[in-house]
Amino acid sequence: MDNMKILLYPDPALRKKAEPIREITEEVRQKAEEMVELMYEAEGIGLAATQVGWPIKLLVKDAPAESTDGHIFINPIITHREGETLEEEGCLSLPGVFGKIPRAERVAVVAYNLQGERLEIDAEGVAARVWQHEIDHFSGILILDKMTPASSMASARRLKEMETDHRERAAGSRIL
Ligand SMILES: [Zn+2]
Repeated sequence: MDNMKILLYPDPALRKKAEPIREITEEVRQKAEEMVELMYEAEGIGLAATQVGWPIKLLVKDAPAESTDGHIFINPIITHREGETLEEEGCLSLPGVFGKIPRAERVAVVAYNLQGERLEIDAEGVAARVWQHEIDHFSGILILDKMTPASSMASARRLKEMETDHRERAAGSRIL
């Protein structure tokens, strides 16, 4: 892969469905480590592989100090949701866009680490939100699809700007 970078809305790759990982190869390990670096460089707390144009079910997230689960999670699924919360959320693929998104307050997740060990994780609050946000990326779902109508209206101008920038970048690459 060329230099890994975070794709920005409305890059069509962000809408791709991610496939489960069948084998944890050296390539998977290396790219996952690169994603962790990229996430921290961008000052994010989570990043899904679909956001770097890699349509597989792998995500990286900032680990709370008390956690020993590491940063890299493979084939995660949410097995239980509980409670409801409405908080503001952003996305590394949508810089400058923030919106109120309804999420479950608590989730239970089953995922695998790079050693192929099965993990069962309970998360709440911000951590629960990160799981839900990153796992949505695997279905091509972005925050703009889930934000409240008021947040949607407030984000409309910024989204339009990003769409124009994307068209201009695409036109530029044809000239080069
Ligand atoms: Zn995101």
